[in-house]
Amino acid sequence: LTSRLPQVGTTIFTVMSALAQECAAVNLGQGFPDFDGDARLMAAVKQALDAGHNQYPPMAGVPVLREAIAAKIEALYGQRYDVGSEITVTAGATQAILTAVLALVHPGDEVIVLEPCYDSYEPAITLAGATPVRVPLSAGSFRPDFARLAAAITPRTRALIVNTPHNPTGTVWSAAEMAQLAELLRPTDVLLIADEVYEHMVYDGAAHQSVARHPELAARSVLISSFGKTYHVTGWKVGFAAAPAALMAEFRKVHQFNVFTVNSPMQHGLAAYMADPAPYLELPAFYQRKRDLFRAGLAGTPLRLLPCEGTYFQCVDYSGLHADIAALGEADFCRWLTREVGVAAIPLSAFYADGRNQQIARLCFAKRDETLQAALERLQQRL
Ligand code: PMP
Ligand code: GLN
Repeated sequence: LTSRLPQVGTTIFTVMSALAQECAAVNLGQGFPDFDGDARLMAAVKQALDAGHNQYPPMAGVPVLREAIAAKIEALYGQRYDVGSEITVTAGATQAILTAVLALVHPGDEVIVLEPCYDSYEPAITLAGATPVRVPLSAGSFRPDFARLAAAITPRTRALIVNTPHNPTGTVWSAAEMAQLAELLRPTDVLLIADEVYEHMVYDGAAHQSVARHPELAARSVLISSFGKTYHVTGWKVGFAAAPAALMAEFRKVHQFNVFTVNSPMQHGLAAYMADPAPYLELPAFYQRKRDLFRAGLAGTPLRLLPCEGTYFQCVDYSGLHADIAALGEADFCRWLTREVGVAAIPLSAFYADGRNQQIARLCFAKRDETLQAALERLQQRL
């Protein structure tokens, strides 16, 4: 048997969560909240179940949910997507990313990803028969490097995948960077796949720069987000894609033979819950407080904090630890941290094709305050 994905093993998130469990470590590895979503959202889903929303919904998603998504995008970012032809509900952002790539990328094309990047991008590109082209984000700052990006674009470049706010580094693209991106792509027909799953986790008063704020970018983009992140329900696996009708028509051709449609009661529950914008408008303050609490506690350890402008991830540099620990590669360091310190983390190397070591680990702060305190105590006492 010849593997379609010979380089791929089990994802680092699964591996580290299993190790965390085995070692009874505080799991700050895989990105998911250890608290539940809003009781009102649960009630809305229960109501949908009882109301009999239990058969196939329309292929593109329940119309009331698509309408709620369109209204939210328009209110926040100014772009109006057509409910009938430009929005599709997906089984999470992962399915939306794979579907977008399979639908829009041809064998032999090149697709640019900015490293470090989320681990599902490259396998999606490979499955489409295309070539992933890795362009590094700027060393140190992890901001886009437009000179290198420009140099990577060729006549074979079909698409570019951009993720802001960025997993794993927590950088958030500025309006000026989005304008630079628009300028760079203007003379090309490169499509943009915009992974915006952390759109509501931007801190210190900054604004998320959705492609939907930039009509020129929106015209060539598939915008992707996920309710799992926004509403603390990563296990529901419901997200969406929004794109101009011509792109969305192709997206749906794949979607209908990939999952066909997404479970009905969650969609109805989400649609009802979305009528109130407060939960997502309050999310930045909710997570900023956790970020600040976590950073303040980490300041009492030898770990060096990297900036965190958005997402629920905090990266730390461990080069200041004892020489024998600092000498460990990131994967070994994260295993050591899980086993010996009792806190699970994700190595940044997992987001690079070459698995390079920069002595950086990613910690997730989407946790109850007690969980963060328990992790901080271990890190303060044992590092
Ligand atoms: N993109 C990024 C950058 C992510 O961090 C994640 C999830 N952690 C996803 C996509 C996938 O989201 P979902 O769980 O909705 O498939
Ligand atoms: N996206 C989450 C993370 O970065 C994990 C999702 C997964 O386990 N596939 O931690």
